[in-house]
This record gives sequence, C-alpha cells and structure tokens, in this order.
Amino acid sequence: MGKVLIIGAGGVGTVVAHKVAQNPDTFTEIMIASRTKSKCDAVVKAIGNPNIKTAQVNADSVDELVALFNDFKPEIVINVALPYQDLTIMEACLKSGVNYLDTANYEPKDVAHFEYSWQWAYKKRFEDAGLTAILGCGFDPGVSGIYTAYAAKHYFDEIHYLDIVDCNAGNHHKAFATNFNPEINIREITQNGRYYENGQWVTTQPLEIHKDLTYPNIGPRDSYLLYHEELESLVKNFPTIKRARFWMTFGQEYLTHLRVIQNIGMARIDEVDYNGMKIVPLQFLKAVLPNPQDLGENYEGETSIGCRIRGLKDGKERTYYVYNNCSHQEAYKETGMQGVSYTTGVPAMIGAMMFLKGLWKKPGVWNVEEFNPDPFMEQLNKQGLPWHEKFDGDLEL
Ligand code: NDP
Repeated sequence: MGKVLIIGAGGVGTVVAHKVAQNPDTFTEIMIASRTKSKCDAVVKAIGNPNIKTAQVNADSVDELVALFNDFKPEIVINVALPYQDLTIMEACLKSGVNYLDTANYEPKDVAHFEYSWQWAYKKRFEDAGLTAILGCGFDPGVSGIYTAYAAKHYFDEIHYLDIVDCNAGNHHKAFATNFNPEINIREITQNGRYYENGQWVTTQPLEIHKDLTYPNIGPRDSYLLYHEELESLVKNFPTIKRARFWMTFGQEYLTHLRVIQNIGMARIDEVDYNGMKIVPLQFLKAVLPNPQDLGENYEGETSIGCRIRGLKDGKERTYYVYNNCSHQEAYKETGMQGVSYTTGVPAMIGAMMFLKGLWKKPGVWNVEEFNPDPFMEQLNKQGLPWHEKFDGDLEL
C-alpha cells in the first residue's frame, strides 16, 4: 500500500520499525534513517527482515533530508527523532511532497517551551501542497486525544472535565533512569505545571499539586499535575471543556534524584564552560544516565494511561474512564523495548496506517483528535494496546 520512512532509531523508533514490519500489507517498503546508521542496522537485524533499508541522516539539515526523501520517495515520514527536528522535517516534507507524522511538538533547543504554534503555522503550506501532517500521534499526546474524540463522538453531548492520567507502575531496578530520552523528559517535568480552567491557563509551581489516584490493576499512586502539550489542542478542539488537566505518577525515589539533579545545576539547558569547552549540563547528564533503551530486560510491572471524563449526555451528567494497561515485559518480549517506548511507537505506526489506508488523509496540519477515532481505536485492540471502559464510576477528580 505504501512506502514509509522512519526517522530516529531510539526506543520509540525501534518499536515503530517492529510494528511497521508486522503490517506488510500496509507498509510495502520501509526505511529507517537516523543520525547513527549502525543503530538503524541493529534494529533491522533484530527484526530479521533484510528488506528494510537503512540510511544515515542529520535531521537538523533540510538539505540532507530532502536528498534522502527524493532518493527513497516515501509517502509518509514517521518522525520519532527528537522534538528539535520537527520543523526541519516538516520543511523537507513540503519541499519533497511527503506527508508527515510525529509524536511530540516542536521545542526550541535553548528554551523548554511546549506549544503547537510553530507547527500549526505550517497549516496553509501543507494544505496548498495537498499534504497531510499528523501531529502528536504517540500515547500522550496521541491516544489521549483519540480517546477524548471517541468519548465525544459516542458518549457525550458536551465534555466538561477532562483529566488525562498517566501511571508508570513499572520497576526497572535502577536507582534513577528516565523512560524516554532523558533530556526531553527532564525538561518536561521540571517546568511549571499548568492546567486549563474556565477559559484560562492556571500556572503552578513544578509538581506543586498532587494526589493519590487509583489505577486499574495497580492501585493508588501519587499523581502530579503537569503541563502536557495535548491540553492545548484538546481545549481548542472541544470548546465545551471547562477544565483540562494532566497527571503523571512519580515515586519518591525518582523525585529525590530529580531534586538533587536540579539543585546541583545538572538540569540546566544553557551552555557552561568546562575546560575551555562548551557543554550543556543536561546533555552531559544524558550521556551518563542509563539508556532508556536498555531498561527493558529487567523492567517489571505495567503502565496505565487513560482519560477520565465528566460531561453531559441527554441532559444528564455522566462519567467515563477509558484506559490501556501495558506490561513492560510483554512489550520487551515483542520488540526488545520497554512499555513507554511501546505505548508511543504502536500509535505512531497506527497513525501512518490510517493515512496510507486513506482514512486519515486531509491536506493541512492536524492534531489526532481532528480525525475519525473509530478505525484507530479498532487498530489499538489489534496492534497490542487494547483499551477498557468504565462508565459512571467515581473518577476521584
Ligand atoms: P531516543 O533518544 O531514544 O531516540 C531519538 C533518536 O533520534 C535517536 O536514534 C537519535 O540518534 C535520533 N536523532 C536525534 N537527533 C537527530 C538528528 N539531528 N538527526 C537524525 N536523528 C537524530 O528518544 P525516544 O525514542 O525515547 O523518543 C523519540 C521521540 O518520541 C521523542 O520526540 C519523544 O519526545 C517522543 N515521545 C513521545 C511520547 C508520546 O507518548 N507522545 C512518549 C515518549 C516519547 P542517536 O541514536 O544518534 O542519538
């Protein structure tokens, strides 16, 4: 059905490559390209399909990307490099007539700032070129938006309260490690918290608000209010929402390490002089922390991510909780990666599948909740991320 180019051979890229290879009816030709070609070759070896091509590319360079795109001629690029590369890859897509999908919004390297404005600004150019760009198609953002769209379509006339709840109850047996790229992860959680209420954004201190939430098959876990990028598009696309928040669990041990990292300046993202060399402390820290891709083997337990929604149907208040639990060990057995990479990579593959099947094809730049959620939800059940629903229970929020 179509040619796909995956950019990035990290934890998420590895899962995307496995899942794309498992769906040969949809993905007829596959290439994985990244900064370090040997990592792409290792992924292909692990999958055991020599037909998957590999290439080296610096995705910060539009020219290099254009040369690669013109050579391989993919129909769609799955961008699972880092958020810094989103705009160069979108530029190259426009220059070469290629469709686009990613899992994280653009961030400038020198300031940890999360908003869609930079990518939404490409809407007209993608429209004029007849190309589709699908933004934020991992789990959160990604499935969190699709769950919300599914709830709005089938169960609510008006959604009033939305809480996205993200629990990782896994244990990787390391003193401290992040589950995806440490630089991106630490930038995200050391920011101020932010949520949406009655038409305004309310800012909190980092990790200031927290409460115990009970997760299915896991139990109660201390959950912290964070800003997360999908809140921005969801309140725009579902204007009946009065309050939207995002919660993530952290263990005390993790938070203690994080506090120390910040207190000693290792979370800084500005350059410092070290022996006449410029280094960014957070990037240096990434080099010494465990690689998230190596956590899988000893990772036990599961993740549980979902949406807790309250609103109106036929004039009556109702609640709805939709979620997926994903076992780190099962993810590892299937792809060699832990559950956080798995829950991101599977939806990225499904988004590209939706595009190639013509189900999510419309020129412009879109967030996932702007497409029909039904065929995506159906694929989640088939591709390893089954979902469950609870109606009219206590949401705790
Ligand atoms: P990793 O750091 O494991 O992998 C990133 C990959 O991108 C590496 O292979 C890296 O190459 C490559 N890369 C980085 N810079 C460049 C460049 N300039 N040119 C070419 N390749 C480059 O990250 P993850 O796999 O953990 O995360 C991938 C993406 O997924 C991130 O954007 C992250 O924010 C997003 N994500 C989204 C989630 C969601 O639910 N929506 C959840 C988790 C992650 P090299 O190996 O040489 O360093």
